[in-house]
Amino acid sequence: YSAKDAKTGVVMYDPGTLVHQPSRLVLLGDLRRALDRTDELVLHYQPKVALNMDQVCGAEALVRWHHPVRGMVSPAEFIPIAESTGLINRLTVHVLALALRQVRRWLDDGHEIPVAVNLSPRCLLDTSLLDTVRNLLTRYGVPARMLRLEVTETAVMGNPALALATLTGLHELGVRLAIDDYGTGYSSMAYLKRLPVDELKVDRSFVLNMTASDNDAILVRSAIDLGHNLGLTVVAEGVETDQHVEALRHLGCDIAQGYHFARPMPAEDVVEWLRTSGRQTRVAVG
Ligand code: C2E
Ligand code: MG
Ligand code: MG
Ligand code: MG
Repeated sequence: YSAKDAKTGVVMYDPGTLVHQPSRLVLLGDLRRALDRTDELVLHYQPKVALNMDQVCGAEALVRWHHPVRGMVSPAEFIPIAESTGLINRLTVHVLALALRQVRRWLDDGHEIPVAVNLSPRCLLDTSLLDTVRNLLTRYGVPARMLRLEVTETAVMGNPALALATLTGLHELGVRLAIDDYGTGYSSMAYLKRLPVDELKVDRSFVLNMTASDNDAILVRSAIDLGHNLGLTVVAEGVETDQHVEALRHLGCDIAQGYHFARPMPAEDVVEWLRTSGRQTRVAVG
């Protein structure tokens, strides 16, 4: 099996990946088709809550694939497939466009909700990303500060020089940057200090266990302290319980995100959720 790009006719062969398994290949073909036309790919939004004010300071956009036959396919399943073939770049443009269109709609309705989009490792190596982001911001009339981009340290370390150049360009545009899943990947303090990032997102695996495991609690605390020492806003992911919120407040964590506040939800539900939760949007933090 080989994956053939419909447009270029180029056969991509990468022995380091599993794209050659039929099911992955079928899924890959379906994904390419989904990107070409349909509304099979949608974004759900998960609010981020500023802990000191109990106000919403943004939302993370998470892609969802409603496959016509397979039903809901998790991003954990199809993002790696897209990533292993380069289709991720098209998918990212699609996601960015959907997210910025939504930010514009909310602005038009009087809601300032900055949105964060996830970037895969390959996106940081895409030299056209900067132009793409600039053009999409212009097309949808969205101020750059309303867009946040999340990257992992592992993605940066794949090609630090190129990643740094891409991130610096985005940052100069006014886009805010976050380190995602902090604590899980290859971590280099030297690079963390050099990267033009604004936000550190502590991985949910540590947050989820912080009230049960001393080691995880220590990791969360040191991540918060490190982030603050570097002048970053610190976000905890995977906040599920009252105890998590209490512990994180105690440690001085700035922002929390997780099922305790809300699951990722369709765009149509966000404003209603804001209303019923009694929360306001606030853009000063993060
Ligand atoms: P992530 O960026 O770390 O996103 C957070 C994930 O944690 C989401 O899973 C979210 O639904 C889940 N989550 C949020 N709160 C809680 C909680 O309280 N408890 C638990 N157990 N989980 C929680 P999801 O939506 O399945 O996405 C998984 C991953 O797929 C994301 O991790 C991200 O790395 C990737 N992904 C999602 N959308 C995109 C996208 O548009 N582009 C790219 N490149 N990757 C994406
Ligand atoms: Mg993320
Ligand atoms: Mg994360
Ligand atoms: Mg993650």
